[in-house]
Amino acid sequence: MKLARRVEALPPYLFAEISKKIAAKRAQGVDIVTFGIGDPDLPTPRHVLDALHQAAEDPVNHRYPESEGLPELREAIARYYQRRFEVSFDPMKETLPLIGSKEGIGHIALCFIDPGDIALVPDPAYPVYEIGTMFAGGECYRLDLKRENGWLPDLDAIPDDVARRAKVLWLNYPNNPTGAVASLEFFEKAVAWAKKYDVAILHDNPYCDVAYDGYNPPTIFQVPGAKDVAVEFNSWSKAYNMTGWRIGMVVGNAQMVDALMRVKSNLDSGIPQAIQKMAIAAIDGPQDCIEEHNRIYQRRRDRIVEVLRKCGLEVDVPKASLYVWAKLPDGITSADYAARLIDETGVVVTPGRGYGLNGEGYIRLSVTTPDDRLEEGMRRLEEWSSRR
Ligand SMILES: *Cc1c(COP(=O)(O)O)cnc(C)c1O
Repeated sequence: MKLARRVEALPPYLFAEISKKIAAKRAQGVDIVTFGIGDPDLPTPRHVLDALHQAAEDPVNHRYPESEGLPELREAIARYYQRRFEVSFDPMKETLPLIGSKEGIGHIALCFIDPGDIALVPDPAYPVYEIGTMFAGGECYRLDLKRENGWLPDLDAIPDDVARRAKVLWLNYPNNPTGAVASLEFFEKAVAWAKKYDVAILHDNPYCDVAYDGYNPPTIFQVPGAKDVAVEFNSWSKAYNMTGWRIGMVVGNAQMVDALMRVKSNLDSGIPQAIQKMAIAAIDGPQDCIEEHNRIYQRRRDRIVEVLRKCGLEVDVPKASLYVWAKLPDGITSADYAARLIDETGVVVTPGRGYGLNGEGYIRLSVTTPDDRLEEGMRRLEEWSSRR
């Protein structure tokens, strides 16, 4: 059998070594506490589940959905952006539901990237930006994110010839994995830069409703003229504890949204309609759940930051996202540190190297571990740090 080069060229699964270690430890009977994956532990809100149950009973929802999504969902998406950010979208031209935002993030490369084309991809980053580019035959130009720049790319440092050839610029704030946030001024600068070089901006914003200490993350569309060059991916997953239902959205430039719709309509047949009804219930319904979840995450964040500092790690307190990103002491790789933690404490963290070269020297902990398990993990780390 001869597999395609794009499959052969896939990087080895970044967390394969850790997964193997976890499996081995569990087989030995070790009680593992994991801070690995950013997947809300709290259930989907009751009124959202009620909408699913009701929609499941209606035979209309048993048939193929339209790939462009229910008009009432697209209207609800536009209403959400209006209410949340005071920005307007034409529901039928400037919004599109996705089978989880990851699906659209992966597929949008097919709208822009021909073989040999350049995508500007931050490092560290959510891995799908790079993989989507690679699947489309494109090349990634790495934008180095550094702690001293607040984990923002230095767009002026991109060489002129690269900027001219580039087709897309990926951005993601609040950021996974670093927890960094970007100001409206940064987005203004990015939009101006993108217009100058005729590059499309693909902003990934699934954490805009996961924020702390009163911080209110922006959308790129608060920048006047952003719609000329940008789309934004967003998701129900993190804000409404809906990772398991697989539904997300893209909003913004009509030509870009239409291109993604045309690609998708040739690959998938849309989102199960009962799940679209859940999504409408989530963004049209009461929003108190968002604040409730954020209060819980903020308390967990504070506990994790406190303990990691006791362990001798440098941590900037994140204003948003589900992640605490911590700098290791010099001289140990993130993979070795993570492996040692599993061996010596049974606690799982994510090595930063899994998100790119600039993630080396860092680990990521997610605040989606249930309170009692989180406390158990933190107790072990405190004990471990006092032993060393
Ligand atoms: C979780 C996450 C996503 C994917 O969200 P889904 O809508 O569940 O596919 C996309 N981008 C980033 C940066 C994420 O952390």
